[in-house]
Amino acid sequence: MLCREGQPELIEIIVEPHGGIRGRCSQCQQPAPGYDRLPERRWSFVPLWGIPVDFRYAPRRVQCPEHGVVVERIPWSDGKRPMTYAMMGFLARWARRLSWRETAQVFQTSWESVYRSVEWFVQWGLAHRELWGVESIGVDEIHWGHGLRADNFLTVIYQIDAHCRRLLWVGKRRSEVTLRRGLKALGPEVVKGLRFVCSDMWKPYLNVIAAEAGQALHVLDRFHITTHLNQAVDQVRRAESSRLRAASPSKAERLKHMRWPLLRRGSRVRGRARQKLDALLASKMATARAWDLKETFFHFWQYKSVLWAGAFLDYWCYRAMRSRLEPMKKVARMLRAHEELLFNWFRAKGEISSGAVEGLNNKIRVVTRRSYGFRTYDAMEIALYHTLGRLPEPESTHKFC
Ligand SMILES: [Zn+2]
Repeated sequence: MLCREGQPELIEIIVEPHGGIRGRCSQCQQPAPGYDRLPERRWSFVPLWGIPVDFRYAPRRVQCPEHGVVVERIPWSDGKRPMTYAMMGFLARWARRLSWRETAQVFQTSWESVYRSVEWFVQWGLAHRELWGVESIGVDEIHWGHGLRADNFLTVIYQIDAHCRRLLWVGKRRSEVTLRRGLKALGPEVVKGLRFVCSDMWKPYLNVIAAEAGQALHVLDRFHITTHLNQAVDQVRRAESSRLRAASPSKAERLKHMRWPLLRRGSRVRGRARQKLDALLASKMATARAWDLKETFFHFWQYKSVLWAGAFLDYWCYRAMRSRLEPMKKVARMLRAHEELLFNWFRAKGEISSGAVEGLNNKIRVVTRRSYGFRTYDAMEIALYHTLGRLPEPESTHKFC
């Protein structure tokens, strides 16, 4: 143990090769005659009692009949990294509970070491995960970082089966190329086995899903439709608010602080917000009419038969088209254009959960926004797989968390 001013600073474990056991070739793992020894190296091991621990060892080189002179296999490390497997697994497990920066601080190592550990952990998990039994996937786009450039969007593919919900794939951008790349990464067997695909009405996705997974029932997700309706209500509110501020300030007052009450499900608005909302709804303002259309659409999801749902959709679109509210008309036209995919929601009823995509989406946002200090896209991608991929983990004799 190394100490400074009476405080333990580092525990060093000096490892020596067993005299009677030959080193193994790092390529083929077969014992081979010794050749020479390399200079001593260090590997960090799991800290004990909060004190960093290092392995010190001078690796042997062996002369393998097949691979020539190579470094021996080192059981605690892959030879490339200055960390033991145990330490990488240790940091990676903690990095799921703490931010990467916190993990580095708590265990007296660098952010980079935490990153490399998680990367190794995730790569192992991706290489060993099972993809059989994937029947339902959700495809979605996620915005991250600042700005609206193409690179600020990610395409994600989730598994949304009842028995397993996880992130399957993530890639930059939200183009046809991206999604094709994602489906290719999952492999033809997975794509052929799909029964349900859930997505938004984003054109590139619709095209690729139709072309690649034509056998699956393609469902427009309820969560996305609700989002479109909410955005339309909000556009109406903003436009009306700025119109009224000039013409009638007292009326404009009614729209103040109403964004969230308007966007929530009506039945969930309570208290003072409820009173304000009721007053607004009695006013016959454009925002009130938009809100009413949004709330009415909720009934659509309650139908059991496609036929009745279709009749309701006709009725709703008719009302929306006559509302003189351009954002609501736009939603109506969009729904009309994708009617068949919308009805698939009823055909798939009971088979896919409407909340699955939304739930995973929210979790992704927690990761992309959390202050992990991701400096690069690659680091974030790894963090996403790490927290949401439900990946298998390398075996470890050490369990610390
Ligand atoms: Zn060999």
